[in-house]
Amino acid sequence: MPDSSFSHIFDPQKISNFLKVASEALENYLSTSGRKGVNLPSPHILLREVHSLTRPEQENEKDFSSPEDHLRAIIDLHLKTSIHVHSTGYMGRQFSSVPPAAAVYDFISAMAPQPATFYECGPLANAADKVIAKEFGKFLAWEPNTFDMISTSGGSLANLTAVLAARNLKLKNSWEHGLVQHETCRRPAIAIGEDSHFSVERIAGILGIGQDAIIRLPLNEKRQICSLKARETLTCAQRKGLNVFCIIATAGTTSVGAIDPIQSLSQLAVEFDAWLHVDAAHGGALLVSDTYRKNVVDLRYADSFSLDAHKMLFSPAACTLLFYRNKQHATSPFPTQASYVLDDAGQEIRDFENGTKNFECTKRPSILNLWVIWCLYGREFFEKKINRLLSVTKIAHNIIKSSKDFSTINNPEINIMCFRYEPNNMNEEDTSSLQKKIWRTIRSSNEYFISKVDIDGITALRLVIMNHNITEEDIRGLLQRIREICHSTRENS
Ligand SMILES: *Cc1c(COP(=O)(O)O)cnc(C)c1O
Repeated sequence: MPDSSFSHIFDPQKISNFLKVASEALENYLSTSGRKGVNLPSPHILLREVHSLTRPEQENEKDFSSPEDHLRAIIDLHLKTSIHVHSTGYMGRQFSSVPPAAAVYDFISAMAPQPATFYECGPLANAADKVIAKEFGKFLAWEPNTFDMISTSGGSLANLTAVLAARNLKLKNSWEHGLVQHETCRRPAIAIGEDSHFSVERIAGILGIGQDAIIRLPLNEKRQICSLKARETLTCAQRKGLNVFCIIATAGTTSVGAIDPIQSLSQLAVEFDAWLHVDAAHGGALLVSDTYRKNVVDLRYADSFSLDAHKMLFSPAACTLLFYRNKQHATSPFPTQASYVLDDAGQEIRDFENGTKNFECTKRPSILNLWVIWCLYGREFFEKKINRLLSVTKIAHNIIKSSKDFSTINNPEINIMCFRYEPNNMNEEDTSSLQKKIWRTIRSSNEYFISKVDIDGITALRLVIMNHNITEEDIRGLLQRIREICHSTRENS
């Protein structure tokens, strides 16, 4: 006899009740107008609310008559504590609102799991990897069937996987024996830009390379790696007995969105017998735009590069594409395989199988969400949105640059720009602490959401334009808010 106590939970007829609760809440959430940032509760207040939703009968505060009511309260709390990525006040982070069709499809893959990686468990996800790879191969002018792509849960994991491929290929036998030090051997090292993402530094820790074997390549005035100085730095490292087996460049740095000179770095990599990985988590998406592709098309010279679809390709997180220029290298990170998941049946399935190339075993098949956006709206959707975001960023830059009480830090190469409010002769320390104060006050006002960044010891405010509805008026409104904050601070002090 089946256990009937589960039947009401799994009743297919109840799905629509839950969906109705969800869609009503979302419709309401998405149609509220006005600028919003984030309504960040203090942790102890939030924890109290979470407790009361977890065990309402114990807290004796709330009483839910049905699971639908209980779910509604949970969804309300979720929406209340989320950053309003749909609002034009949201200018602070690198993730964006997603097309509703992609979110709905994410629900389907939760209900009918295809936990990607092994073909047997996620055939559609493995096929979608191939289709998306093919589209990008065209943008890169790579010959079909010469390259490979896997999808991972996030850019940090993609970076780690790529550097592991580099390590296994460049430091022979390190997979089997680890980083054994021989007297004659030079110590393994990686070279990264000064503005690399923090995940890259962690890789040195994870792979046993050590933080003191990270070589930092100097930047030029645009905060891109300077390839002339990079050669000197690499030569110097070599003289000191270091073996730089991997150079990690960035296309779209987190702080200012700078794109490193990929082609010249790829030549340096050949010269020094190193692998070139490009962390294109943010900027790689420009490949889909006919207008901006030229800014990143040199990614074709990289040995590997990673691209976050949950940033400028507007997919639900986390969905990252990790490309290898030479498809043979895609299996380098994990040379030994587990027998219980491998199918020795035939080459055809093995060619589709990404499980042999991916650290993750069971994972969300989030490539499907990207694929569904591509199916419904085509490449043009991404292109239009990216073009719009970059042009609004340029407008923001022009407005801020021409305001006498503001200064700009970078001439944006992408949709990220940094700036400061500098009313009148203030010393550096006070100017930096003023930016922090502005950032905190703006966050607590729940009208705008911006971020702050420290660059070469100075603090600046940072905009990431991810919402296609942001206009000049929103930017002007932000500057006005900043001025008001500073005036009222001065009056109060
Ligand atoms: C966002 C980002 C990462 C980290 O990617 P996750 O998907 O958040 O793990 C790494 N590098 C750069 C340049 C990024 O912008």
